[in-house]
Amino acid sequence: MSRATVLLIEDNAENRYLVTFLLEQRGHEVVSAESGPEGLELAARLAPDLILLDIQLPGMDGYDVARALRRNAALRETPIIAVTSYAMAGDREKALAAGCDGYIEKPIDSETFVAEISAYLPAPAGATP
Ligand code: MN
Repeated sequence: MSRATVLLIEDNAENRYLVTFLLEQRGHEVVSAESGPEGLELAARLAPDLILLDIQLPGMDGYDVARALRRNAALRETPIIAVTSYAMAGDREKALAAGCDGYIEKPIDSETFVAEISAYLPAPAGATP
């Protein structure tokens, strides 16, 4: 896996710590935002390879953040994975409809988390023709 820049938009400090630890352990760079507006600003500035988006955020929720990210032409192709503890039926569809490419449920499983998102990370350099 090549080194990727991952933007994590998550208001919970424990989840930020865990996700950052798991990704940095694999050599990725993680930039964190604690709110939707901060995440939008960082996304526009950094053009990350992947965005991990908490849905339950204070103020502007993850669905609104996803829609706003997709309104930025420069971020239209950036993979967005919703990470949510909502257990309600229809959340997955709602996240996809808002512009997310994937959906991971909390609690984060440290054994499988990186594998789950690896399909959305850039391929290793030289691995594809
Ligand atoms: Mn949250």
